[in-house]
Amino acid sequence: MGRIYVKQHPRDARLTVEELRDMVGHEGEALSKRVVHFATSLRGTRQYWFHQRSRLISMVDTLGLPTIFFTHSAADTQWPELARLICLDNPYSSACRNTALFNNPAIADWFCHQRITRYIDTFYVGVLGATDYWVRFEWQHRGSPHVHGVAWLPDAPNVKDLTSENEATVAAAKETIIQYVDRLVSTINPAIAADGSDADQAPLPKTKPQHICNKSYIEVEDYNQDLKDLIATCQRHTRCSAAYCLKTGRGGKQECRFGYPKPLQAETTITMVEGDPVLTTKRNDPLVNDHNTTQISSWHGNVDMKVCVSRRKVIDYVAKYATKSEPRSKALREVYSSTVKKGDDCNITKVAQKIMISSVAERDYSAQETCHLLLQLPMYTASRDFVPLSLDGSREVLQRLNGDQPATSPCLLDHYMERPATLQFQEMTLLQFARQYKMPKAVGTAPVHRNKQVVAIVRPYCSPDPGGPKYEQYCRQSLMQHVPFRHLDDLLGSCTTYAEAFAVFLQSGSVPPSLEDDIYRLQKLQQQSDADRDQVYHHKVFFFRQQCHNRIIFVGTPR
Ligand SMILES: [Zn+2]
Repeated sequence: MGRIYVKQHPRDARLTVEELRDMVGHEGEALSKRVVHFATSLRGTRQYWFHQRSRLISMVDTLGLPTIFFTHSAADTQWPELARLICLDNPYSSACRNTALFNNPAIADWFCHQRITRYIDTFYVGVLGATDYWVRFEWQHRGSPHVHGVAWLPDAPNVKDLTSENEATVAAAKETIIQYVDRLVSTINPAIAADGSDADQAPLPKTKPQHICNKSYIEVEDYNQDLKDLIATCQRHTRCSAAYCLKTGRGGKQECRFGYPKPLQAETTITMVEGDPVLTTKRNDPLVNDHNTTQISSWHGNVDMKVCVSRRKVIDYVAKYATKSEPRSKALREVYSSTVKKGDDCNITKVAQKIMISSVAERDYSAQETCHLLLQLPMYTASRDFVPLSLDGSREVLQRLNGDQPATSPCLLDHYMERPATLQFQEMTLLQFARQYKMPKAVGTAPVHRNKQVVAIVRPYCSPDPGGPKYEQYCRQSLMQHVPFRHLDDLLGSCTTYAEAFAVFLQSGSVPPSLEDDIYRLQKLQQQSDADRDQVYHHKVFFFRQQCHNRIIFVGTPR
């Protein structure tokens, strides 16, 4: 892989040993970043997931907030359908199933992948009517797969009304959302009293004589009893462990990071915490995990389902599940300097190899995950296609050049700026154009409408921090996406900077939901500058008074 990197980056390939050694600090870090960025194409690496994160964020920007978050874990040591594939001799012995699973990671992983992809189609799309979804495969601890996902449902209530200034709108929204949530998601244990008075007597996991997940779905006769058994076995957070959920909280106390045991709750409520809606479902069992009853009954294993009521929760989710972490520049700098210092036979291929190994191989891969990668099974699945949208004018370099032809092919931006001057296209934004139309064959020809909107992935990434060094570029890129234009100058209007023009746009009242955070950031900045101005004023008043005071003393004091 290091060799491939070097082949594709000829400028880095020419670096000499001395130059590599001199490149400590910033330059070394920049080289490490280029190498690590190259690893985004390696499926399953941290860099790969960081890249996927931008796809999920773009999907949320395109489709709005998803309706539900969900998780499914594989009961791969139990499921009889898998046991029949890998443990023919004795599918009812748990010891034999465990050995068979250990010896057949490829079949086990393929089976789980098949099961979840079919499940998404039949349950999320078929039963709940999901219009869109994004699902990620993951392996942890013992190496069994689980999936995290989000889905957009057609009948989802409008959660935006929860933050309305009109009290009646908020009250109506709460009522509608609570009714919706109670139909979809449960934190009720059906085996105990409705008021939870006998929660300490909740049934124990059903593992004998046969584990409930080892029972085939077609063998189930009493669905209510099956649901009770599944909840008792797979859905209660009965044991907190240091390896899984315990963390040191405030005051040095050990706390469960999922908040178990949770207080009982008579009715589902929505409360505002720091301006953000928080949903608490009715609960009669302090240990039962959120689920949908049809979901757990049909999956026959551990699941989770939550209704999403705030944008902040979605962002938390994306940070938590869609990518675990991103490359840290400090760590990269250390990696670089130790790589260059240690090796006597320092050359660019070796350096690139070492950087890649230290950044890619920073964690253990389970046998099933390794098989998943080798079998070329997808790491995530989404209901939409993605198209890259480059805003810095970078274009694809043509492989074969002849004569006077341009060396690059036109990009989406070129096609947009040269779009037909008809009414249909005149007021269309670049983002709408990218999502709804296929790239025309030649610049200026009529674009073809897509059957299904795609998700545009905007490049390059710029930080939206108004105090950051790339804010001007961020504002320019935001305007390019959301304001119709033919020439970049159109976006400035009567302003001199893009930051000014963007601030004007944010106040225009026709701002897409994806820019709400920008409005919030600017308001914060405004409050900050108001506070600063107040402080300056108070300071001046203080000095003025002091001067008056001195003068009064001075006036009254004879020399
Ligand atoms: Zn816990």
